[in-house]
Amino acid sequence: MVAWKLARAGRDVLLLDAKTFPRFKPCAGWVTRDALHALEIDPTTYPHLLIPITRVAIGLSKGLQVTHWPEPVSYGILRHEFDAFLLERARAAGADILEGHRVERVIFDQDCVHCLIKGQHITSEHIVGAGGSSCPVARAVAGRAIWQYRTTVAAQMSEIPIGAAKLQQSRLGSGMPVLYPEPECDGYAWYFVKGDFLNIGVGALTRSGPAIPVRRHRFLQRLQREDILPDSWSLSPFVGHSYAVWRGIRPDLGGPRYLLVGDAAGLAHDLSGEGIGPAGISATLAAAAILKNPTGQDFTDYGKEWASLQGNGFSTRIGGLLQALPLFIRQTALNTLCGNPWLRRRWVLEGAFLGRW
Ligand SMILES: Cc1cc2nc3c(=O)[nH]c(=O)nc-3n(C[C@H](O)[C@H](O)[C@H](O)COP(=O)(O)OP(=O)(O)OC[C@H]3O[C@@H](n4cnc5c(N)ncnc54)[C@H](O)[C@@H]3O)c2cc1C
Repeated sequence: MVAWKLARAGRDVLLLDAKTFPRFKPCAGWVTRDALHALEIDPTTYPHLLIPITRVAIGLSKGLQVTHWPEPVSYGILRHEFDAFLLERARAAGADILEGHRVERVIFDQDCVHCLIKGQHITSEHIVGAGGSSCPVARAVAGRAIWQYRTTVAAQMSEIPIGAAKLQQSRLGSGMPVLYPEPECDGYAWYFVKGDFLNIGVGALTRSGPAIPVRRHRFLQRLQREDILPDSWSLSPFVGHSYAVWRGIRPDLGGPRYLLVGDAAGLAHDLSGEGIGPAGISATLAAAAILKNPTGQDFTDYGKEWASLQGNGFSTRIGGLLQALPLFIRQTALNTLCGNPWLRRRWVLEGAFLGRW
């Protein structure tokens, strides 16, 4: 997104990615309308799978609680297609792209930045760290301290093409994300059928509670017990990934010669775990900051701009507060919120998940 914006503005851009595209990225592939807007993607012209979401269900002990909207509130995409689309858009705008180039180290000098790749140096005036939760730019800036002030979500997911015929034999349904709050009230499991693909997983804050493989096992057993997922199906191996959510305490998103965007900066929403929208918004702010400050001396203001836009938001405070409450209070509150149709729609789904408090 940053590369696309800068290349369109006539700047020299080199984009380095460790993988070759299309590449797998662990993700449920739920994009909100706001996220598509931030990424400047028009749903009517997007050329790949885009499933409109007009229903979301929450799995409670009393069964699935479904909320409907008259028009799409979000979309389901496949990340390997979506990310390759964004990459090709940047290439078409004139960005130079080196795929399969893992940046091993980033070194800041007085008047430039070096990226070390297989013994080679690539030098630039400034650098945007967009390398996700293991971004080498974020590591160079904050070192080991990077994880100390982060709230981390760990997740495991599997995405497999299972085909229409097999889907019809199950009770998974189609086009409707189904979310199951974790009994520890610190995350949720989900399944989401998009076209012929089943996406299934679980994510939770990592400070306490059962390990993610235990939660995954518990969730799959529940789906089998409730006859939603046939026992005989074998899913593709689950893939794990961790990333940080934004709790408004990260001070250094921008500084001398660098800016961090998306997961590299730990910007995902803390209640929903949504990270595609925040990545798009931060990329737009980062590109604007570079265009305003072409010498790249200092990008501290970019961090302040993000914090003033998102930093002390309502959901951030609620997330921290909820975690401090005793478990039985959290469980009662969550069941009340998710069990009541009005509260579920306005607070849980439109509030926490769609960011419209
Ligand atoms: C299981 C799971 C489910 C999720 N579901 C959703 C969802 O449904 N909706 C949503 O909005 N968010 C979701 N998220 C969060 C979302 O995936 C991330 O917040 C989002 O992908 C962040 O985008 P990014 O561009 O910052 O990082 P990434 O998408 O992680 O991209 C980082 C890129 O950097 C490259 N890279 C990494 N290290 C290097 C290196 N050293 N050198 C060169 N390149 C490097 C990688 O190859 C990768 O292409 C989910 C996350 C997980 C783990």
